[in-house]
Amino acid sequence: MNTQESERLFARAQELIPGGVNSPVRAFRGVGGTPRFIERGAGAFIWDADGNQYTDYVLSWGPLVLGHAPEVVLKAIAETAAKGTSYGAPTALENQLAEQVVGMVPSIEQIRFVNSGTEACMSALRLARAVTGREKIVKFSGCYHGHADMLLVQAGSGVATLGLPDSPGVPKATAASTLTLSYNDLEGAKSLFAELGTEIAAVIVEPIAANMGFVPPADGYLQGLHDLCKQHGALFILDEVMTGFRVSPGGAQAYWGLDPDITCLGKVIGGGLPVGAYAGKKAIMQQVAPAGTMYQAGTLSGNPLAMAAGIATLTELQKPGVFDEIVQNTHLLTQGIAHAAAQAGIPLQAGTIGTMFGFYFLKEDGVQVTDYATAKQYVDAPRYATFFHKMLERGVYLAPSAFEAGFVSAAHTPEIIQSTLDAIQESMREL
Ligand SMILES: *Cc1c(COP(=O)(O)O)cnc(C)c1O
Repeated sequence: MNTQESERLFARAQELIPGGVNSPVRAFRGVGGTPRFIERGAGAFIWDADGNQYTDYVLSWGPLVLGHAPEVVLKAIAETAAKGTSYGAPTALENQLAEQVVGMVPSIEQIRFVNSGTEACMSALRLARAVTGREKIVKFSGCYHGHADMLLVQAGSGVATLGLPDSPGVPKATAASTLTLSYNDLEGAKSLFAELGTEIAAVIVEPIAANMGFVPPADGYLQGLHDLCKQHGALFILDEVMTGFRVSPGGAQAYWGLDPDITCLGKVIGGGLPVGAYAGKKAIMQQVAPAGTMYQAGTLSGNPLAMAAGIATLTELQKPGVFDEIVQNTHLLTQGIAHAAAQAGIPLQAGTIGTMFGFYFLKEDGVQVTDYATAKQYVDAPRYATFFHKMLERGVYLAPSAFEAGFVSAAHTPEIIQSTLDAIQESMREL
């Protein structure tokens, strides 16, 4: 495979941009080699600067649930852009996307749009602190909620891959108000609340821990966390930046029947453009300025192009059969991966919920990854790196890290999935 042009671009990028990338995981540090510079995408495929074609299961890390460059989204963006790109004043498009989200996600009554998932989570915590008058927050090791200071504590894949336990530059005092627990350990959460319950403003959690690979919640775990919050007067924040419109059209909360106080959204909601949102019960959201006193703002928030892309994406996703078909194809892929590993005698843990999937190569049979500690202990990351490159050579673009989830889009047909599975079988046989 010729990668000359990507190599040239990456060398130049490293002179211009720290590490040659604008987000660390893109640099392939977790798997080695040269990141592919992407030139274009269409449907399930991307092409790099050397003209190599790949079937893409990263999909911009989740947002592209309809695949690359879908006609409906391109048209919406073009028509909106022709009228103007930003006003710093309200537009009807913001109402339209807000109405759509309120209609789709059960717990959401009001929503505030921002520009990224990071902003969404950061603002959600400010809101929780404002509402409760408390300062401590609880997160789970290996869960990622963006790169805001108080959330960059035991924050999963990107940070884990680089081996930075906490980032320099995060004030000790800021990190000190973030309490970290093990994911899936309800007993641990109970003891923490027994001790410090009156000081805790909120618990923030990924409904599926998908920034340390793919770790589903244990039965009743998420509801258990919410019940604890209720008992102790803390807010329950569900970070659905990744799971929103992916686990089900109504997100993980619709899938598991949860009723969070605040929901964080991002990724799919912007249809490939920069959008995030925090949202929830009206009584809580009314605390946000200018309705209330918790300040949060944004020059480009609710940007018309981004709103148009989000509206087009969610509209398409709600058409009969569209979502279910992606789910079926994601199952097909995940079953095939598990089957290929079993045939090759390779210990593997695979999972899928909705349109997300993930798999771990395990160091031994009979172990299970349920949290960050077991992920670090049992996952054979070097084996993943080898597999990743074999797949890349065969024209399949998986996440460049053993600790990331994968995504399927409406453009991934059963035929495309089957050709990926053929590549997977061959690659696994070679391991
Ligand atoms: C991606 C992600 C974020 C951060 O979103 P950005 O748009 O990258 O800032 C936050 N939470 C979760 C669960 C995510 O997957």
